[in-house]
Amino acid sequence: MEQLAERLAAVRSRIVGAARRAGRDPDDIELVAVSKTHPPEAVREAMEAGQAIFGESRVQEARAKAPLLPGRLRWHFIGRLQKNKVRAALGCFELIHSVDSLELARQINRIAEEEGQRPLVLLEVNVAGESTKFGFSAGDLRAEAEALSELRRLEIAGLMGMAPYAEEAEYSRPYFMKLRELRDEMRETAGWPLPELSMGMSGDYEVAVEEGATLVRVGSAIFGARSGKQWRPTE
Ligand SMILES: *Cc1c(COP(=O)(O)O)cnc(C)c1O
Repeated sequence: MEQLAERLAAVRSRIVGAARRAGRDPDDIELVAVSKTHPPEAVREAMEAGQAIFGESRVQEARAKAPLLPGRLRWHFIGRLQKNKVRAALGCFELIHSVDSLELARQINRIAEEEGQRPLVLLEVNVAGESTKFGFSAGDLRAEAEALSELRRLEIAGLMGMAPYAEEAEYSRPYFMKLRELRDEMRETAGWPLPELSMGMSGDYEVAVEEGATLVRVGSAIFGARSGKQWRPTE
């Protein structure tokens, strides 16, 4: 399976190319390899090709997979986080990209207090206002910024967003611009440093890098198509 290493190298070189086109330092962009649904062997192969950060969208799946792999791997949570999974998530992810409501933020803050943790989180913004997606609207974020700032346990490190599905990467650009502009605005008004912008997936990560992404979440361009079936440990 030489292919995975080759695909990973191609993604990395495209990230570097996009960064250079935008006059950015390629080292300012981190690649999150989205390994959801893929078996630990695929993660290991990516790891052996130099990949360190992996993205998962289900807590149970990550908790089953991570112990089968070296402890130095870094796991990011990118999916919908259910309130009853927060404690488990805090135990295994270094960054939660997908805090999609004030209510969830409060729950994470509460559990972090109990656990003595200071979790690093991103606020997910529904940049296109799609009814099928979760996240803060720009208006909610402005209205709830004060309440979010009171959640002292949370390290709000940035914003995360997704462009609507489209055939062409260029269609994502206005949404990425909007997310970056909202980040700049919230820096000013809420006083959050917000160094991170998590945007861009297999179809549009180069455009995202051109528009300022610091974290790109790339799955199928590295691991191949998902079968739709979640990986499960065999008994
Ligand atoms: C699955 C997923 C990705 C990766 O998608 P690909 O198109 O396979 O790169 C990125 N971000 C989120 C939030 C996802 O759920």
